[in-house]
Amino acid sequence: MPYKPVDSETVAALRSVCGDAYVMTDRPGMEPFSHDYTEDLVFYPEVVVRPRTTAEVQAVMRLAYARDIPVTPRGGGTGLSGGALPIHGGILLSIDRMNAILEIDTENMMGVLEPGVITQVYQEAVEAQGLFYPPDPASKGSCTMGGNVAECAGGPRAAKYGVTRDWIYALDVVMPDGRLVRTGSQCLKDVTGYNLTQLFVGSEGTLGVVTQITTRLMTLPPFRQTLLIAFATMEQALATVVEIFRRGYQPSACEFMERAAIQVAIAQKGAKVPHADAEAQLLIEVDGFDLDLVENTLLAIGELAMENEAVEVTVAQQPGQQKTLWDIRRACGEAVKSISIYKEEDAVVPRKHIVTLMRGVQAITKEHGITAICYGHAGDGNIHINILKMDMTDHDWNERLPGGITAIFELVVSLGGRISGEHGIGYTQRPYLPIALSSDELDVMRQIKAALDPKGLLNPDKIFI
Ligand SMILES: Cc1cc2nc3c(=O)[nH]c(=O)nc-3n(C[C@H](O)[C@H](O)[C@H](O)COP(=O)(O)OP(=O)(O)OC[C@H]3O[C@@H](n4cnc5c(N)ncnc54)[C@H](O)[C@@H]3O)c2cc1C
Repeated sequence: MPYKPVDSETVAALRSVCGDAYVMTDRPGMEPFSHDYTEDLVFYPEVVVRPRTTAEVQAVMRLAYARDIPVTPRGGGTGLSGGALPIHGGILLSIDRMNAILEIDTENMMGVLEPGVITQVYQEAVEAQGLFYPPDPASKGSCTMGGNVAECAGGPRAAKYGVTRDWIYALDVVMPDGRLVRTGSQCLKDVTGYNLTQLFVGSEGTLGVVTQITTRLMTLPPFRQTLLIAFATMEQALATVVEIFRRGYQPSACEFMERAAIQVAIAQKGAKVPHADAEAQLLIEVDGFDLDLVENTLLAIGELAMENEAVEVTVAQQPGQQKTLWDIRRACGEAVKSISIYKEEDAVVPRKHIVTLMRGVQAITKEHGITAICYGHAGDGNIHINILKMDMTDHDWNERLPGGITAIFELVVSLGGRISGEHGIGYTQRPYLPIALSSDELDVMRQIKAALDPKGLLNPDKIFI
């Protein structure tokens, strides 16, 4: 539908809703909201609004709905598929001021919070009460819980604890026309009507604006230990991953880094890692409530790795050593970004097929004359494939990239995989969605979008082309 521009009267109305200080139209003020972490894409909104309450969000949405103005919700702006980019201008709705933790219920083991709370801040707050909120995207220091809900964020601990959707029990959601819908409850069982909570989780800000979140919590496991295991070949490393789970060990993280990934991360961090030239490394964390069990599990995984001809198993029992290893793993994304323009793919396949995916990616990149660096969450089959421009000309990059990505995604789907495990489709992955979904599946999704947002004003042209 044709969108209307934001005129001075609309800006005045927004100011009366949110207050003068929280409505911006000047270019320097809007600059931080014109991009996220997706490649080098930049789109300026016409106005940025920073409401403080659900009622203010409702008022903004009603105003936009009445005037046919597109609205793009935004959390921390760390998205990797361009979901928070205001590609049609309009209103950029930043939820950063809605950042209060409202309740940590240590008896019912639930937390209630506003969506602008930074994920790490929430984790630290619940940990101070002896509780645990496991989902831990590597961006946890700067992404918001609202953004995590919208993207159904994952992270290393998904290997044992699942992704954001597994921890969300209730939401307050402002609909595109300004209605407030309260989904779910604080009950562990609830089949009272459709499960709207899970419809909104992972909907990438296209169906409603999340203004309050209720999460389940668990008791914080007191013991945590880490292993770094170097392997001469990817086959040995990834066979070890399959065997770890088959034997019933349940690591709280099982991460994979290929040689190039660990080397760029080491260079950025200035750290040292044993056998940094090995073809593949696994970073494995085991947590639990019984120290002997944690240590014995770690030992058993180390022995299993040696059966699979690991080059070396390094145990990090002390928090300082563990932090160094995790800093290297978490640095992979930023380190790759620092060496080249890149496009990150977020493929997920059944765990047993990761090795076929990795070797396939090597063959495809060679055939298409492109370079890729891979790392990711091997425990749940989710591998980040970073395709680098390096010194390629713009012409070659634009020519070769789509074919390379298409071939990779076709391989992913042929292995029973999906084209995004945790970063979403957003703006940049839209052309590839038909590789993974049939036209009937796409139609049903479009019908849901049309039913909840008939004017197509909320985060338009995301997910679908
Ligand atoms: C270095 C780095 C590491 C990362 N590691 C991981 C990782 O390990 N796992 C992982 O899953 N992701 C990871 N990401 C991606 C990103 O951090 C996640 O997608 C995160 O959930 C985005 O949160 P955000 O607050 O930054 O959201 P934004 O980028 O601001 O927005 C993301 C989407 O959510 C929507 N949205 C935001 N807030 C709301 C709301 N209140 N209501 C409705 N919609 C909303 C936006 O419209 C947009 O579509 C990483 C990113 C970086 C830069």
